[in-house]
Amino acid sequence: MPTQHKLFINNEWCDAAGGKTLDVINPATEEVVATIASAESSDVDAAVQAARAAFRGPWAKLSARERGRLVWKMGERLMERADEIARLETLHNGKPIFESRQIEIPAAAECFQYYAGWADKIQGETIPVKGNYLTYTLREPIGVVAAIVPWNFPLLLTAWKVAPALASGNTVIIKPASQTPLTALALAEIALEVGLPPGVLNVITGPGARVGQFLVEHPGIDKIAFTGDTSTGREIMRGAAGTIKHLTLELGGKSPNIVFPDADLDAAVRGATTGIFYGKGEVCAAGSRLLVDQSIRDEFVDKLAARTKKMVPGDPMDPKTRLGAIASKSQLERVLRYVDVAKKEGAALVAGGSRADIGTGKGYFMQPTVFAGVTPAMTIAREEIFGPVLATIDFADVDEAIERANDSNYGLAAAVWTRDIKKAHYVASRLQAGTVWINTYNIYDTAAPFGGYKQSGFGREMSQHALQHYTQVKSVWVDLNM
Ligand code: NAD
Repeated sequence: MPTQHKLFINNEWCDAAGGKTLDVINPATEEVVATIASAESSDVDAAVQAARAAFRGPWAKLSARERGRLVWKMGERLMERADEIARLETLHNGKPIFESRQIEIPAAAECFQYYAGWADKIQGETIPVKGNYLTYTLREPIGVVAAIVPWNFPLLLTAWKVAPALASGNTVIIKPASQTPLTALALAEIALEVGLPPGVLNVITGPGARVGQFLVEHPGIDKIAFTGDTSTGREIMRGAAGTIKHLTLELGGKSPNIVFPDADLDAAVRGATTGIFYGKGEVCAAGSRLLVDQSIRDEFVDKLAARTKKMVPGDPMDPKTRLGAIASKSQLERVLRYVDVAKKEGAALVAGGSRADIGTGKGYFMQPTVFAGVTPAMTIAREEIFGPVLATIDFADVDEAIERANDSNYGLAAAVWTRDIKKAHYVASRLQAGTVWINTYNIYDTAAPFGGYKQSGFGREMSQHALQHYTQVKSVWVDLNM
């Protein structure tokens, strides 16, 4: 039986004003596993009102340390419920339970605990101004934050926004992707369990184009923290302009993974496969452009294809599975369309390329796919596919590697594989990307900033840098002239 879910506003569960609902599909079985409320603008108004009242009232009255203690407890409670919440994450997204349970739910919990520690360490400064004045700054929360989250890392990307927002004294309205709302709703249960005051955390579900738009244009919201598609980011910038909202955007990517001939090639092959196939390639920072020195190209592609062919999609709930189901039917169709385009444009398919069946005849599974002989002008070298499809491009020397790596509108992440320390740091300094990995891929830590250059967005998530985006600075001048 599908579970039924309501909106979470002011610490209460309520139906959407219009009584409308949406189905949530398990992409591994194609079955409806839940129904959620589809909010109206009056529901958004109610959430904004609750969040504003909490921001001025009970939340503002708590000491920073007490606020931090509640944020810490959210992380603690997430870990106590990790088995169940990881299953929900896998149920609505199709990602392997290994990834949900071992990596992403613990990372989300850690994010809450990391920012809990910051709550009472957000400080102003005293400034030696000219004249006889005491001048100091206060670093204050911004107000009501709308966290608009995509479907690929539903809880983790929510945590990246909610934890720094709450720790620094804001209140939040979460808008999860309509395909993957279940873990944001579980976080609302946790807010109740740990005793967050009413209105501090609210969850509004429904289609992004409508509900997201209400939030973006609402005059009662002070900041939008958005992760999602670059085209949606553009719309959000336009929508937020009307009320001059604070805005941070974490958008798409087409990240280059550069392999030089002096690299540990076996490690680079492993890095290239995890770089593109972790999370089924539905990862904004996926290493979707593999740049390989032409002198080792054939050997490297052979190794890569052999390793890729051994990776088979399986039941996401099986702890041994490392490749789950694509998150939705429309996403699978999009990935398959790109495979067709790549073939038509002359790329050489060396592994995968088709929909997969795990023996059930159901589910949106895709074979991990590698193309060789891709040129920088081809569509799969330029557009974000957001699936398990790797485009292999070659280069002649270091300069061409850098030029090709930077030949993209995106700039989220990049990696360099080499044993030459000078070359590694030189190339890292020249790459236009918010994160550069050297001899590794897809490594994250809450203490390290993450975000985009160019059209991959602006602002940073995680680390102390994110706190800048959830606070504003007030200068206070005191006349000391006697
Ligand atoms: P999306 O842009 O379609 O949706 C993201 C969220 O925005 C969802 O909650 C959706 O309901 C909402 N939304 C949609 N239209 C809206 C509108 N007009 N106004 C307000 N909200 C709206 O993206 P998606 O398909 O869910 O996610 C995939 C994209 O996210 C990829 O492009 C990927 O690269 C990007 N992504 C980026 C990062 C990063 O950190 N840079 C991380 C993960 C995903």
